[in-house]
Amino acid sequence: MSEAVKVVVRCRPFNSREKENASDRCITIDQETNQVIMREVDGNPMRNFAYDAVYDSESRQTDVYEQTAKPIVNSCFDGYNGTVFCYGQTGAGKTFTMEGKEEPKELRGIVYNTFYHIFDNIAQQPEGVQTMVTVSFLEIYNEELRDLIGPKGQKLELKESKEKGLHVKGLSQVCIQEANKIDSLLQTGKKNRTVGATLMNAESSRSHSIFMISIETSETNTATGEKMFRVGKLNLVDLAGSERADKTGATGDRLQEGCKINMSLSALGNVISALVEGKGKHVPYRNSKLTRLLQDSLGGNTKTVMVANISPADFNYDETYSTLRYASRAKKIQNKPIVNEDPKDALLKKYLDTITQLENRLKGI
Ligand code: ADP
Ligand code: MG
Repeated sequence: MSEAVKVVVRCRPFNSREKENASDRCITIDQETNQVIMREVDGNPMRNFAYDAVYDSESRQTDVYEQTAKPIVNSCFDGYNGTVFCYGQTGAGKTFTMEGKEEPKELRGIVYNTFYHIFDNIAQQPEGVQTMVTVSFLEIYNEELRDLIGPKGQKLELKESKEKGLHVKGLSQVCIQEANKIDSLLQTGKKNRTVGATLMNAESSRSHSIFMISIETSETNTATGEKMFRVGKLNLVDLAGSERADKTGATGDRLQEGCKINMSLSALGNVISALVEGKGKHVPYRNSKLTRLLQDSLGGNTKTVMVANISPADFNYDETYSTLRYASRAKKIQNKPIVNEDPKDALLKKYLDTITQLENRLKGI
């Protein structure tokens, strides 16, 4: 059964820079019809775009979580893979939506809410069900992969093997047992994240960051006593800003980074185009690290949601228009999610097998 990539749009409030520029509103969010309306600006006609859901500047973090990531997190418990990514120009609200802050609660973004939700689910599981949650956090910067919670500055390679499929070799994987442990991990990752100041955003996101969560569940079949294993892998992706390099005032090194970022984002765009154009078309996943890593999320075995973040101001008209078009194309991608049962790389299975072996040794079997 195939299912379309779900696409939602979130418009943030005006920021101080837009207020200083006396920028007018060019965006209306119609929550009744799930439409984003761009009004006429400088001879550009009025335009309407429809999505799976739309959120205005009053929308709460929990509203966005409940309707976008939550169903995907639940599916991960059933053994499906999931991906949520935030796309949009720098300053549009991607990191606010993806991370936000742990406290106050109202500011919790998708990453925090995901962990609170995961551990709520675990607390409600019946006896005989065991779940292990592991986390990795990495960034793609200038086409290099870096571990954000492992040894500092370590560059990593993408590898493919029979057992693990496509994976990042040497990437740290941390076992998490409580939701409130995630904050320190996020803070470590933030410190290690590559940040370069540009005019657009002092804490500019020049890199893509990916939070990879693996939810492994074992359940004992009451009739046969046999253990069944399922693994759901979840990627929470905060993409680099999608703006053109010239608007950021970048020069030199910054400009070069801008080109590379655009290269991997345009590779993402090309993958989306090829998928949308349909059958038989070669899909250029291998043209960037980002698209190789997200291959399964686009046209593959994953349930995917894209959050397109936009500004309400006419000052950002061109970037917003480009984001909305990108988001409309992504809506046409069809994925084919299936349950991952008894996967070869299930860590939980390995650990439980080891425990059984040790117990048998103690018993002298
Ligand atoms: P990006 O990651 O896309 O570059 P940020 O998430 O850092 O953008 O957002 C830029 C600024 O706007 C931040 O100060 C953030 O707190 C604020 N902001 C973004 N979205 C919202 C929102 N929905 N409500 C309130 N503030 C927001
Ligand atoms: Mg950001």
